[in-house]
Amino acid sequence: MDVIPETRYRFRIPRHGPMRVPGIVYSTRELLPEATGDKSLEQVANVATLPGIVTASYAMPDVHWGYGFPIGGVAATDVSAGGVVSPGGVGFDISCGVRLLAAQLDQDQLATALGPLMDTLGHTVPRGLRRGGTWQLADRAQLYDVLLGGARYAVEAGHGVPRDLARCEDAGQVPDAAPGRLSARAIERGLGQLGSLGSGNHFLEVQVVDEVFDEATAAVFGLHRHQVCVMIHTGSRGLGHQVCTDYVRTMDEAMSRYGIRVPDRQLACVPVNSAQGHAYLGAMAAATNFARANRQLLAETARRAFERHTGAGLELVYDVSHNLAMIESHEVDGRWRRLCVHRKGATRALPPHHPDLPADLAATGQPTLIPGTMGTSSYVLAGVTGSPAFHSTCHGAGRVRSRHAAAREVDGHRLRDDLESRGIAVRGTSWRGLAEEAPAAYKDVDAVIDAAEGAGLCRKVARLVPVGVVKG
Ligand code: 5GP
Ligand code: MN
Ligand code: MN
Repeated sequence: MDVIPETRYRFRIPRHGPMRVPGIVYSTRELLPEATGDKSLEQVANVATLPGIVTASYAMPDVHWGYGFPIGGVAATDVSAGGVVSPGGVGFDISCGVRLLAAQLDQDQLATALGPLMDTLGHTVPRGLRRGGTWQLADRAQLYDVLLGGARYAVEAGHGVPRDLARCEDAGQVPDAAPGRLSARAIERGLGQLGSLGSGNHFLEVQVVDEVFDEATAAVFGLHRHQVCVMIHTGSRGLGHQVCTDYVRTMDEAMSRYGIRVPDRQLACVPVNSAQGHAYLGAMAAATNFARANRQLLAETARRAFERHTGAGLELVYDVSHNLAMIESHEVDGRWRRLCVHRKGATRALPPHHPDLPADLAATGQPTLIPGTMGTSSYVLAGVTGSPAFHSTCHGAGRVRSRHAAAREVDGHRLRDDLESRGIAVRGTSWRGLAEEAPAAYKDVDAVIDAAEGAGLCRKVARLVPVGVVKG
């Protein structure tokens, strides 16, 4: 495929075949997926064929192969021009995302408390594929409250403080959730999993701020050098997964009735303005609220552990999703339009003074949270003025080795020993799971972040390093 360098950080896949718009890849030559035999740029081109897509099919610097859409992909469709919504453009883990909490504690004050703290976190954070969460819901009616109320409902029920909501994307609750659009199986899977991490790629990490790139912005975010933080990465668990499974099937059947043809069945989609489109968006919003409440509950678990072992409180820096389709207004070709913006493995990064930002973050732009790996750095970024791709940036380092390949090449025991010898306490779930998530399975996060900043998608605020990881 033709991939034409336009600047050091931007590449173009020219329109060809049924593509309606070009592909635009924010990357560097070194980070382009082709280098590792990853075919995700073909997926970028496939997405460009979707009805109603505007401007371009975008890829972020962490792009890699995904289900239909690439992970690290952004695509927006014009709602009033037959634009489609596709579950594959959101992903199986609906509203998977990252939450960062800042401890009123510096690294040197943690020293002897770290081991016991990690033990408590290891015991109290439900994880792995099995059932069980920190909040046993009374019944289906209470699950509906969660699906409608998200993190707001959790806080109102005593799981958190009101300030938390001011630092959640969408104030912790998206509107228009339709729990009635979930299958019985999705509800069943959700009932036992609220307040749980899930498997492999999900984690709760104790980190330390080891570099601040912009002191003033970091201060507004509540961060300073040597500070202890907690990063939580999880999503909507089996409930969201079931919603995606259900609606891929629904759309695969319904698609032809709308005269839609896609180059890959995994791109199954229907017009946003259709019965199935509305149903999916309502179910997706419900799963989103589940994910937001889930991260709120795990933050409470971390707070209890910190209170017990250090006496320090944890203040929310921000909570942001990286798997979501949102209806947003953007100016396209000089006209404001309602777009369905799919971000799959991509994070919204609102620029300074965007109307959706809370007042205290207006001057800085939106905090954006990027996990790296359990053995390297993670980042706090901020949105920037004039950012392209509907104000989006990367969501992680991005895989270069499949889970399977990583498990074959990496020995979990040795990896644990290696991390421990570098001062990173590990509380895993399975050796295989650990190996699948080895740092070697991912791109160089520093290079990915430099590319994202160089491309004008965001700017660096702070870098974090792990000192303890609870792995799903
Ligand atoms: P995803 O949502 O695509 O599963 O994962 C997002 C990103 O999380 C990955 O691209 C990877 O960079 C990062 N990641 C995976 N495991 C860990 C971990 O244990 N710790 C940290 N800090 N990041 C991780
Ligand atoms: Mn996830
Ligand atoms: Mn994720």
